[in-house]
Amino acid sequence: MKKEQTIYIIGAGISGLIAAYELERAGFSPIILEASDGVGGRVRTDEFKGFLLDRGFQVLLTAYPEAQRYLDYEALHLKNFEPGALILKPGDAFSISDPLRNPGQTLSMAFSPVGSLFDKIKIYQLTQSLKQKTEEEIFSEKSTTTFQFLKDYGFSDKIINNFFKPFFRGIFLENELSTSSRMFKFVFKMFSQGFAAVPEKGMQAIPEQLKEKLTKSQIRLNTPVKQVEYGKIYLSSGDVLEADSIIIASRPDRILPQLQGQFKPSRKVVNMYFSIEHSFIAQPKIALVTDDQFLINNLVFMTDVSSAYSQNNKALLSVSITKPVEVDDKLAKLVAIELSALTKISAEFFEHVKTYIIENALPDVDDMAYSLAAGNTKVSDGVFLAGDYMLNGSINAAMTAGRKAAEAVISSYQTVH
Ligand SMILES: Cc1cc2nc3c(=O)[nH]c(=O)nc-3n(C[C@H](O)[C@H](O)[C@H](O)COP(=O)(O)OP(=O)(O)OC[C@H]3O[C@@H](n4cnc5c(N)ncnc54)[C@H](O)[C@@H]3O)c2cc1C
Repeated sequence: MKKEQTIYIIGAGISGLIAAYELERAGFSPIILEASDGVGGRVRTDEFKGFLLDRGFQVLLTAYPEAQRYLDYEALHLKNFEPGALILKPGDAFSISDPLRNPGQTLSMAFSPVGSLFDKIKIYQLTQSLKQKTEEEIFSEKSTTTFQFLKDYGFSDKIINNFFKPFFRGIFLENELSTSSRMFKFVFKMFSQGFAAVPEKGMQAIPEQLKEKLTKSQIRLNTPVKQVEYGKIYLSSGDVLEADSIIIASRPDRILPQLQGQFKPSRKVVNMYFSIEHSFIAQPKIALVTDDQFLINNLVFMTDVSSAYSQNNKALLSVSITKPVEVDDKLAKLVAIELSALTKISAEFFEHVKTYIIENALPDVDDMAYSLAAGNTKVSDGVFLAGDYMLNGSINAAMTAGRKAAEAVISSYQTVH
C-alpha cells in the first residue's frame, strides 16, 4: 500500500479528527484544512470574563460506544450531571429522578406532579427493553416521530409535557418532538446506561484530546475551502491543491457543486450565559421550563457541574432557547425577567455574560442511522464524505462517520492502487 498519498480532510471537527486518526493508524499522513481558528467544529469553548463558555450547551453521553473507543475519559476529568431533571415552574420546583439509579426516590416520584406511578413503570420498562437491544437494532426499528412513539407507548400527557417535551427539545433542538423515534430510543438508552458529562475545563477538551493523538497529520487552520472538483481543492485564498483523496468532514453542499440544495436547513439554538453570586439550584442537574409562555427551555449552572467553569467565584448559568426568537438588546433583559419569575430572585441579580446564536447546531436528517457501510461514504473517485449529517446529530455519529470515511479511503488504496 502506498503511504505517500496526498490525503486532505476538510474540517477539523470531531469527524475530521477521527478520520485523521484512523488514517494515521493505517500509516498515512493526512492534511486537515480547517476554515476556523481552532479544532473542534461545533465543540468549542471560549474563555471570557473569567468563565469557560461552551459554544452552546452540550454534553458527552459517557455510554456512547464511539466515545468509549476514542476518548480517555479519565484524562478529560469528566464531571457528571445528576441523572433526571429539575422541573421549574413559576415559584415552584420539583425533581424527577432516574428510577434505575435512585430507586430510593421512586416513591416520591410516584406522587410527584411530574407524572403518574404508571409513567414511572413505563420508564422502567422502556429502560429495560432498550438495554436488551443493540444500537444497530434500535436504528433498524420502525421510525415514527418521538411524540407519536411516546403516545403509543402509553405515557401520559402529563409526563410528556412536564418532562419528555422540554428535555428532548433541549437535545433535538426542535419544538414538536418530530425527531425520529430511533434517535429518541438511542439517546434514552445512552442516558440510562451512562452519564451526561462535561470535561472539567469545557467541551473543547474533547477535540483537543483527539488532536493530541495525531502525530503525523498536519492541521492548517484559517484555511477555508471554496470548492472541490475533479480531485482538486480550491481554497478561498485562490490557491488550488492537488489531492489523491479528499474527505469532506463538513457540510458538503457548500463546497461540492453536485450536492448543492440537497440539505435541509440545520436546527438552531440560542444559548445565553448569566452570572450570579450563588446557584439557585446547587446541584449538577438540568432544569426544565415546562410553561410554553416562557422563552427559556432548559438551564443549568455549569459551575454546579464543574467549578472550573468560573475563575471569579461567581456562578455561571447556561440558558437554552429553542423557540424561534429575535436576538436583540432586549433579549437578555427579557430572559432575566423570566429567571426572576421562576425563582423569585430579582432580575437585576442575573448579569448577562454572553449570547451565542448557533445557526448550524444540528443537521435535520430525515433517515437517521447509526452507522453506514464504508463504501457509502464515497461520492466520486477519490472524494469521500464524513460528518454527523451522514447519520444523526451527535458526537457519536460524527466519530462513526469519520472512521467509516477513513476506512473507505484506506480500502481504496488496497484494492485499486
Ligand atoms: C448547541 C449544540 C448542542 C449539541 N448538543 C450535543 C449533545 O449534547 N451531545 C452530542 O452528542 N452532540 C451534540 N451536538 C452535536 C455535536 O456537537 C455534533 O454532532 C458534532 O460536533 C459534529 O461534528 P462534525 O465533525 O461532524 O461537524 P462540525 O463540528 O461542524 O465540524 C466541521 C468542521 O468543518 C469546518 N469547515 C466547514 N466548512 C469548511 C470549509 N469550507 N473549509 C474548511 N473547513 C470547513 C468547520 O469550521 C468545522 O470545524 C450539539 C451541537 C450543538 C451546536
